[in-house]
Amino acid sequence: MTVQLYNTLTRKKEELEPRIGNRLYMFVCGITPYDYTHLGHAKTYIAFDTIVRYLRIRGYDVFYIQNVTDIDDNIIKRAKETDTTEKELAEKFFNEFLTDMEALNVHSVDKFAKATDYIPEILAQIETLIEKGYAYESNGNVYFEVRKFEEFGKLSGQILDELQAGARIEIDENKRNPEDFALWKAHKEGEPYWESPWGKGRPGWHIEDTAISMTFFGDQYDIHGGGPELIFPHHDSEIAQAEACSGKVPFVKYWLHTGLLNVDGEKMAKSLGNFWTVKDALNEFSPEALRFFLVYAHYRSPIDFTREQIEDARKSYQRLQDTYNLIRRELAKVESPEGKEPVRLTDMDEEMDTFRSDYYDAFITAMDDDFNTREAIANLFKLSTEVNKRLAGTTRQQIAYEVLARLEADFKTYGRILGLFEQDELSGVEGETFKQLVDLLLEIRDDARKTKNFAEADRIRDKLKSMNIVIEDSVEGTNWKYSTEKK
Ligand SMILES: [Zn+2]
Repeated sequence: MTVQLYNTLTRKKEELEPRIGNRLYMFVCGITPYDYTHLGHAKTYIAFDTIVRYLRIRGYDVFYIQNVTDIDDNIIKRAKETDTTEKELAEKFFNEFLTDMEALNVHSVDKFAKATDYIPEILAQIETLIEKGYAYESNGNVYFEVRKFEEFGKLSGQILDELQAGARIEIDENKRNPEDFALWKAHKEGEPYWESPWGKGRPGWHIEDTAISMTFFGDQYDIHGGGPELIFPHHDSEIAQAEACSGKVPFVKYWLHTGLLNVDGEKMAKSLGNFWTVKDALNEFSPEALRFFLVYAHYRSPIDFTREQIEDARKSYQRLQDTYNLIRRELAKVESPEGKEPVRLTDMDEEMDTFRSDYYDAFITAMDDDFNTREAIANLFKLSTEVNKRLAGTTRQQIAYEVLARLEADFKTYGRILGLFEQDELSGVEGETFKQLVDLLLEIRDDARKTKNFAEADRIRDKLKSMNIVIEDSVEGTNWKYSTEKK
């Protein structure tokens, strides 16, 4: 079994074959840090985080770079408006982005490469393009001459005639042709600049990606990802720059693009009043609910973000989390067979173990099929139903230690792939101390109830609830669990 992935360049699913051994070089277009991270970013970066987590678990040695566009028109404009420097502004919002990604359990990026750290590489690449006749200087600007690169538009399928028609609206007398794009922009008063062979100026947008990727990966590499709005002109321009520069084809073997995020059926936009930053969303929903909502859709599918949908997602996630907790609780009750005679598995154990391994295989098969998290998670719901039937309620059965241990191990793998079921995993001394403290509080609450001090009992319950710890009283005693519901 191999991983299949949909390649925007060839418009079909292909078998994943790394260019070198099991090494995968992967680049995803990063943010322009001039404002807070929004839900569209969260969708894209969670999608690629999940893909990279999966590829690593699948045994690939992934080197994942995200660039940071820390100089561009938006940054210059916002720095002026807020009376700060471009550098300070970019640093502030890059750090905000890291905080948001941390909250969403996005950890897979190996290297964040800031455009302004690669000015010499950018200049060298532009010089090569001029030498090879693909670029020209004009009044301190350098442009890529699109019609010199015959295959321009092969990723998006845009043809030069359409391009020219579209670009004709913006007349720029420095350009030879309206469709040409800037590799280097001449300095304007009040803007940051770097020295170059063509005078003071700053890099264009597309060139930073190829300068960075060619620095770390060489002329060709495996996977390039990004949001769907980047296919044209950004990624088509990257292909033109890199292939013109190196003469090697293809620049990137697999191009992966995510689906759009809409809000209440419309494109998310500040002007429509439906704009959500990640921080807004985390004020209202737990990070687990938000992440689950986004991974419970195939990465190429568009997503419609509504309060109802995310509340449904939260409940679904809680169901899976409860099953995982149930498995762990049962496992803690059963004695480990270590150092003892092996126990013969009963028919019920065998049956449970068969469900377990069938659903595990189905999960992996779905993930192998272009990272179909929707289908993979659908199998977890079916597994959850089978587990709940056997471990809880009136149909409760005793399941052997080794089967429970295998179930727990599977859930850990699901969690590592999806970036879920991890947040409440308390382990080691700290985790044990924490559990004992919660148990102690529950004992104090119990004593308070016995002496009819209900105010004290409620105070403890409410305080724990504010920490997302929910108490469940039943005839068997009091249990507690984490809740994904926002406090
Ligand atoms: Zn990019």
